[in-house]
Amino acid sequence: MRFLFFIIFLLTNIYANTNIDFTLYKKEGKELGHTLLIIGGIHGDEPGGYFAPAFFEKHYTIKKGSVWIAPSVNIDSMIANQRGIYGDMNRKFSTISKDDKDIRNIEKIKSLILDKEVELVLNLHDGHGFYRQNYENAIFNPRAWGQATIIDQEKIHSLEKFGNLDEIATTVRDSLNRDKLFQDHHYFGVKNTETKAKDEQQQLSLTFFAVTNNKPAFAIETSKNITDLTEKVIYQLKSIEEFMRVMDIEFSRNFDLNSYKEVQNLLFDFGKIQINNNISFDLNDIRKNLRFIPLKKSDNNFVFEHSLGNSKFINGNYEIYIGNNLVTTLSPQIFDKNGSFLDVDLEIDGNIIKSKFGQILEVKKSFKVLKSPLRVNVIGFSKAGVDSEDSLVLTKSDMVSNFSIDNSTKDYRVEFYQDSKFYGMITIRFID
Ligand SMILES: [Zn+2]
Repeated sequence: MRFLFFIIFLLTNIYANTNIDFTLYKKEGKELGHTLLIIGGIHGDEPGGYFAPAFFEKHYTIKKGSVWIAPSVNIDSMIANQRGIYGDMNRKFSTISKDDKDIRNIEKIKSLILDKEVELVLNLHDGHGFYRQNYENAIFNPRAWGQATIIDQEKIHSLEKFGNLDEIATTVRDSLNRDKLFQDHHYFGVKNTETKAKDEQQQLSLTFFAVTNNKPAFAIETSKNITDLTEKVIYQLKSIEEFMRVMDIEFSRNFDLNSYKEVQNLLFDFGKIQINNNISFDLNDIRKNLRFIPLKKSDNNFVFEHSLGNSKFINGNYEIYIGNNLVTTLSPQIFDKNGSFLDVDLEIDGNIIKSKFGQILEVKKSFKVLKSPLRVNVIGFSKAGVDSEDSLVLTKSDMVSNFSIDNSTKDYRVEFYQDSKFYGMITIRFID
């Protein structure tokens, strides 16, 4: 009996373990126009293919036409930093077995491609090497995929609009190559896989599924051999912009795409995470491990500012990811009962304020938590004989820096409890 129970437990877990559902973002212009669909992250170890659409989602505004963006359709593989932990997702568009762990996401992508509003599809990758028409060596050759716009065939004859795949890909290539490249050998090509006649593997792919359903589709491949993520994201964004120009989609952005530094700063801003609506952490500069984080036993709710944010529960801890980056690991201290309490009073640099839980408060010199029914625990401060650390004026020099949230030792946790209940956390950030 016990054995049987174990088997059933195992099976239900296997079925529960399908790839994580993905989010689709729709950016619609005020003026009507064409609709572009961008699929990112089909391969989990190709960060250019998911950081670029995530960047696009955050920093672009569409004025005319629409752009639909799915930045990361293969989240389990992205977290694992592997091509496809359930097999190659880009080989499942022709046939797929019912119990394939990617089936839900594959069906969702297919229905997006077939949506009658969608008029052109981009599938973003980092490919091996540098595509060249003639063989030069193992990195630069016709079998390589990197730095190319990929098409399955020259044309979709039945289409009036955007059916001339080769012409569009050539326009994109020429535009990219006219701009300044980070290295001369980064120049782009057009690779026609002639899928129907010559490439059985590609017949299983996303773009071939689209093309056979009369939807123009292209893969944008930056190179795995370019190790600088910022460079790859800039190339991907330049490609996307050129496709938008071809489609007469009008847009604006809140940064200079020709400024490497500016793109880099925005790209590596991982934003904040809100947990259970009563804790928040800034993920930039956060320590690799944080211990005794007051969490619930299950159903903890993680809300990320970054569209590539995910959490993974493993060995009793929560791993926090942005894309394929493990940003921090939270070791929980379990509080099954959470109290609800609207806000607390603090004195910050001499001014009394009310704050909700889950806020980050900037402090120049000192802070003091005013007395309330809640017990206060300032992590990194202790004084003999003090149970609740309220009504104390505290400065940065009162804090033990090892207990900071961040590597720069500016952020400290202030936690609020009553009886055995956790109410919430406020982060005190000392600024100079
Ligand atoms: Zn790929």
